[in-house]
Amino acid sequence: MRYNLETFIKSEEIQTSLHSEFQLPLENAYGSVLRVQGPIVMTAELYRVEDEIVFYGKLSFTSVEECTRCLDSLQVEFKTDVQAKIVVEDLMDDSEEYCLFYQDGELAIEELIQEVVRVEYPLQHICELECKGLCPRCGINLNHESCECENEEIDPRLEKLKNLLK
Ligand SMILES: [Zn+2]
Ligand SMILES: [Zn+2]
Repeated sequence: MRYNLETFIKSEEIQTSLHSEFQLPLENAYGSVLRVQGPIVMTAELYRVEDEIVFYGKLSFTSVEECTRCLDSLQVEFKTDVQAKIVVEDLMDDSEEYCLFYQDGELAIEELIQEVVRVEYPLQHICELECKGLCPRCGINLNHESCECENEEIDPRLEKLKNLLK
């Protein structure tokens, strides 16, 4: 969806707000498509400051991830503030800020969302701080079951050495 900014620009208003809900494939920094559940919501206030327009947005959505330790599924509530500069598409600069491209009277909010997610969406997820993970020997999920494996901490490098000495 593209948000039409023309009405606001032509008006005398100094502030406007928007609320948009999207269904859109999002990728994390590794290029994996996120398993988003429900809508991707972007609400924002736009302010006219002299001859510029600034964008203060809040992005939120829910996605399903695997716990990095135990591989169980968990829900991630992703929320972030997004401040962006509105830039006419041909006038890109190299600033560190997010740019919200504006062309033919419309804001390219989807592109902004994808960029924010690529930069800010976490790549590691833990189901809970006390997650015990998987047993390194038999692979069972130690949060749900226990096993008979030796419970010593094994440094994988030492383990290799041990095997070599056999
Ligand atoms: Zn876990
Ligand atoms: Zn085990």
